[in-house]
Amino acid sequence: MKKPKLRELKEAIKAVISGPFTSKYPFEPHTPPDGFRGKPEFDEDKCIGCGACAEVCPALAITVTDDIQSAQPTRTLRQRCDKCIFCGQCELNCTTKEGIKLTKTYDMSGLDRSEPATQIEHELILCELCGAIVGTPKHLRWVAEQLGAKAYANPTLIVSADGSMRLAAKDGGRLDEPALARNDMMRIMCPACRRTMVVRELWGE
Ligand code: SF4
Ligand code: SF4
Repeated sequence: MKKPKLRELKEAIKAVISGPFTSKYPFEPHTPPDGFRGKPEFDEDKCIGCGACAEVCPALAITVTDDIQSAQPTRTLRQRCDKCIFCGQCELNCTTKEGIKLTKTYDMSGLDRSEPATQIEHELILCELCGAIVGTPKHLRWVAEQLGAKAYANPTLIVSADGSMRLAAKDGGRLDEPALARNDMMRIMCPACRRTMVVRELWGE
């Protein structure tokens, strides 16, 4: 038998003195180290409902569901832990950088796979003319804040930042009113309606 080298002997003695590296979980709580990638959770204040996290999620663990039929249109973002691979892309690419964070929660065991999920709900703003989705109030305000004075180039953002947003009527249209005229300028409009209005205003029908 070969004699142990001095370095190995030193390591062995150190390991005996310093005790075990493993924790006694589940009999004792375990605290993961900083940087641990556990259960992602939305932040109610910092999430603006833009949906970018769902776009970048490689495991399709985040879904965005828009309900535009109810009296108060809503957007629901849901993150399912049973599909999550804890890669951290949602946190890394979050528009506000703080809307979703990976926590240190690692114990998500249960009998229902879809149970360990986190979700957040946002109001939705619809185009006042055609009823198309424009975004969430928080998202529009965030964009207006980022643009500063430049936001005044876009009437939808002015109205949003002003806090006087109105949601479209359920049917979304204005059948008895003239189509897309100058007096529609200061309305919440989707890009398609705004483009049509501007083109008609400049060049006519
Ligand atoms: S703010 Fe961040 S967490 Fe919220 S929807 Fe946008 S990307 Fe996702
Ligand atoms: S950690 Fe990765 S897999 Fe999990 S929700 Fe975020 S982007 Fe998707």
